[in-house]
Amino acid sequence: MADECLFCGIVAGTVPAQKVREDDETLTFADTNPQAPFHVLVIPRKHIPDIGALGADPDAAAALLRAIRAVAQENGLTDYRTVFNTGAKVGQSVFHVHAHVLSGRPMSWPPG
Ligand code: AMP
Ligand code: ZN
Repeated sequence: MADECLFCGIVAGTVPAQKVREDDETLTFADTNPQAPFHVLVIPRKHIPDIGALGADPDAAAALLRAIRAVAQENGLTDYRTVFNTGAKVGQSVFHVHAHVLSGRPMSWPPG
């Protein structure tokens, strides 16, 4: 757990969240500022700052991908977008790696 990390606080239970799914390695909860009818964040329980660091931890990376797959299956998602923002310039605001999983509306490409 990293001090002053919002998502470590959610893992620890000191910050409230609308949990959607849990397993030993990951936690999934609703985004408080949803950008689609379905918008959740999938995070590793352990503090990993971004996808670059996640890539150096194959077990954690695999667990996160399995959790994304499970979230999609358990919620009947066939079409969904998965986003990892990496760095403040592209919109990362919480530096505990998280996959946004968005679904439930048409989406355009390229992203803004
Ligand atoms: P990013 O900007 O990619 O780092 O994504 C961070 C996301 O966390 C944003 O979409 C926020 O709406 C979301 N967020 C911030 N605080 C909370 C919270 N306490 N519970 C759930 N989602 C949050
Ligand atoms: Zn953290």
